[in-house]
Order: sequence, then structure tokens, then C-alpha cells
Amino acid sequence: MTTRISHWIDGRETPGTSGRAAPVFNPATGRQTGEVDLASAAETGTAVASALAAAKAWRRASLSSRSAVLFRFRELLHDRSDELAAIITAEHGKVLSDAAGEIARGLENVEFATGVPQLLKGGFSEQAATGVDVYNIRQPLGVVAGITPFNFPAMVPLWMCANAIACGNAFVLKPSEKDPSAALFLARLWQEAGLPDGVFTVLQGDAEAVNALLVHPDVAAVSFVGSTPIARHIYETGTAHGKRVQALGGAKNHALVLPDADVDMAADAVVSAAYGAAGERCMALSVTVAVGDVAGPLVDAIAARLPKLTIGDGAQPGTDMGPLITREHRDRVAGYVGAGAEAGATVVVDGREADVPSDGFFLGTTLLDHVRPDMTVYTDEIFGPVLSVVRVDTYEEGLELINANPFANGTAIFTRDGGAARQFQFDVEVGMVGINVPIPVPVAYYSFGGWKASLFGDTHMYGPEGITFYTRGKVVTSRWPDPATSSVDLGFPRTR
Ligand code: NAD
Repeated sequence: MTTRISHWIDGRETPGTSGRAAPVFNPATGRQTGEVDLASAAETGTAVASALAAAKAWRRASLSSRSAVLFRFRELLHDRSDELAAIITAEHGKVLSDAAGEIARGLENVEFATGVPQLLKGGFSEQAATGVDVYNIRQPLGVVAGITPFNFPAMVPLWMCANAIACGNAFVLKPSEKDPSAALFLARLWQEAGLPDGVFTVLQGDAEAVNALLVHPDVAAVSFVGSTPIARHIYETGTAHGKRVQALGGAKNHALVLPDADVDMAADAVVSAAYGAAGERCMALSVTVAVGDVAGPLVDAIAARLPKLTIGDGAQPGTDMGPLITREHRDRVAGYVGAGAEAGATVVVDGREADVPSDGFFLGTTLLDHVRPDMTVYTDEIFGPVLSVVRVDTYEEGLELINANPFANGTAIFTRDGGAARQFQFDVEVGMVGINVPIPVPVAYYSFGGWKASLFGDTHMYGPEGITFYTRGKVVTSRWPDPATSSVDLGFPRTR
């Protein structure tokens, strides 16, 4: 028995008509549990038309009524997060506590967006010229699309939709076809919260739906999170069609561990951030750069922690790490372990030999030491439970390595030296920095984004930059009729 997973258009589940569908699996059992409809360009047009009609009405809703919907949505999401976590685990594979964690971080974005009356306040200058006032307002764009990756099926859509909707837009979500059910759960909650039909749409699909959104004249803006090659394609195609685009790409995040670091604390942090969600996080620490003689004790401390991790079905209590998203991806990650060994890295722990459940898409944890920057395990985003250790002699050498990497999403330094940490924060060319914090995902009232090949566009996601992205500014210069000062004057208007 498999479930059919359809679109959500005009406030109801809408079966696809394209004749195309993709299988959805439970990665912990390896069994197909669903089949998701894949939208055609024509169905994309129907979804956008519904969103456009809804956007026209929604922008007229008062700020307080929009905020009230967000408050209700926040309550529903909070109260029903266990249900949503179970849906995420069943299709993604991450453990339930991790799924609950992503919902909690998504919820922060909803809480931020409840403050939309405050966030959209403009400035006002009285008497900019005699009898003339100037003020600015921010208005919604209309229909905005969000295209999201498999690895955060709730949090990443919430990064986008909470602010987009609060600002008065209609939001069309094209979730990953690998774990599409969380999006439908969110759609039902929005409806229950009182959001008018058509303001939140779910368009299930793959490249065909995405490419139709990118060229659709009624889509004003596109927010994307996914791998770098697709992010580049989204940015180039979307902007070529006159859209505002923010496209977040892949990552290769480095932890720089200085000789004075607390080795146990650094090892705990690195293990958590390298292997959590089986390494399928854009903020995973996949490279540890060990400076000087901390390398030996650090590798030993990391290796000692790995056998204690319980790998299994994420729905079972006590599991630390679940499976990978698909069989193909699991095999690809295992291939990197082999490539690293062949290239001369020391395989301290080999995930291919781990005792993991034979059903499902499981792979054990791998620790590679003496990795060099020319090896594919270093150059490529593996997106699996593989940690590479690169040994360097000095802070400067480590910094140079990090700054030379084409990805620049997140990084973290581990040290007890505040001066060294401050210097790192100043020097490092990466968008998000942790100081003894392994996964520095900013809180919702800051904004999230990497540099270089980790982000195409010029606004980061959510927080204040999200409000900027989902609105456009208008400046009004106004004078009220005053018969006492009225006269004909053909000169260019001056303020003095
Ligand atoms: P992906 O790029 O394969 O897919 C992302 C989205 O793009 C999906 O909705 C997918 O349907 C769509 N897509 C895929 N191929 C396409 C194509 N050829 N044309 C148009 N659309 C296409 O990414 P993924 O495997 O789902 O997610 C993992 C990737 O996302 C990793 O690279 C990870 O680093 C990245 N990621 C980045 C961030 C960040 O904040 N920078 C956050 C999460 C994930």
C-alpha cells in the first residue's frame, strides 16, 4: 500500500494530471511508502493563477489580521510538532529528536513573522521641504515561489513562507520530491489557522515544475535552497526572466581546532555536527582542520566516540543516527570512502564495515585522517556521515585553506583564546561563523546565508533580510493643498 501525495491548490488537495509521479521511500526500511505527483508546466500555471488571485486579496488584509493568522499558525505548529516530526522521520530518515529540532528552528521564523506590523514600519520625515512630507512604505511582491531541498522538509519552507506570507504575498512551495508530505501538513495547518485559500500553495514536482516557475511571468521572486549547480541554474534563469532570486547552495564546512582547544569539548562538537542527520545538513562540519599537536589526541577522541553512536530507524527511541535519503546516495557516499582510501587518506573508522541494519539505506560513520586538499573527499560536498581531518602546522595555514575553498556557508573555531577567535571572525571569508559553536545557524532575528558558491544573490534568507527580499520599497513625497503658499513655479523642486 502506497499513499498518493498530491498538490495543494486553492485550499484543497489536488491530484496531479501530468501522468508523471515519483516513488517516496521510508529510508529506514527501504520500502516505498508513497508516490508523489510531479507537476507539468500546465499544472504549474494553474497553481500560479490561483496564487495570483489570492495575492491580490491578501495584500489588502490588515497587518493585525495577518499577524493574527501567524499567531494561530504558530500555536498549531507548536501543538502538533510531534505529528510533523513523525512525518519527517518517515520520509527523510533523521531521528525524531532531530526532526523536532528542525521544527523548533522553523517555528522561530514564524514567531519572528508575527511581528510583521513592527517589521514593516517605515520612516517619516516631516517638513522635508516647506509643507512637504516624505515617507517610505514596503509592499508585497505578489506571487513568490520557494524551492526547497530534501534535508529540511519543514524548516527551510518555514524560513521562507512565514515572512513571505506575513508581508502580504502568496507563496508557492515546490518541496523536494524525496520527502513531500511535510509540505502538505503545513498547508493544512495554514488553512486551519485561517489563511485564505490560495495564499499557500504546494506544487509537487521536479525540474519540470521548477523550470516552469522560473520563467512564469506572474512569479515575482524565487527563494531556493539546494545544491550549488542547481542554485546557479535557478539564479541565472530566474534573474534572466526578471525575477528577484536568492539561491542558497551547497557547503563544505570546516572546523578549525587550535592547539589550546578543550579536546573533549571539540570532539563532542565535531562528532555531533559531522554525523548528525547522517551528515545531510548544509551546516554539517565535514572537515576538521587540526592545528599542530592537537591532531593526534583529537582524532583519538573522535574515533573513541563513534562506536557509541546507535545507528538505526530514526523512529525508534535511543537512535542517534538514521539512514541516508536514498539507496543511490548511500552508495555514492560509500564510494567516496573508497576514493579517499585509494587517494592515500588514513581510514580510521570505515563506515562501510559498520554493523548497520541491512534493510534501508544505512551507512556507518567514517573518519578519514591525513586528508589532503586535492582529494575528492575534500573537494566535493559528500553530504553523508564522513568526516575528513586535515592536519596543518599553523593557524595561518588553516585559515588559508578555509578561505581558498569555493564553498563558504559555515565554519567554526575551537579555542580558549578569545583574541584568536576574534581574529578568525575578522579574517575568515565565510557567511556564518561559530566560536566554540559547531552549527552556527543564526537565530530568526538575524539572517541566514553563506558566501561564494554557497549563495547566489544578494540577500540572505529569513530575518530582516527576508523582509527586505519579500517586499519592495516605495517612497512617497506629499504636499497637502495650502492656498496660502500655492503659486506657479516651473523651476525644479528644491528642498531649501
Ligand atoms: P537539490 O539541488 O538536488 O534539490 C533542491 C531542489 O531543486 C529540489 O526541490 C529539487 O526538486 C530541485 N531540483 C533538482 N534538480 C533540479 C534541476 N535540474 N532543475 C531544477 N530544479 C531541480 O538538493 P537536495 O539534494 O534536495 O538537497 C541537498 C543540497 O542542498 C546540498 O547540496 C546541501 O548543502 C544543500 N542545502 C543548502 C542549504 C543552505 O542553506 N545553503 C540548506 C540545506 C541544504
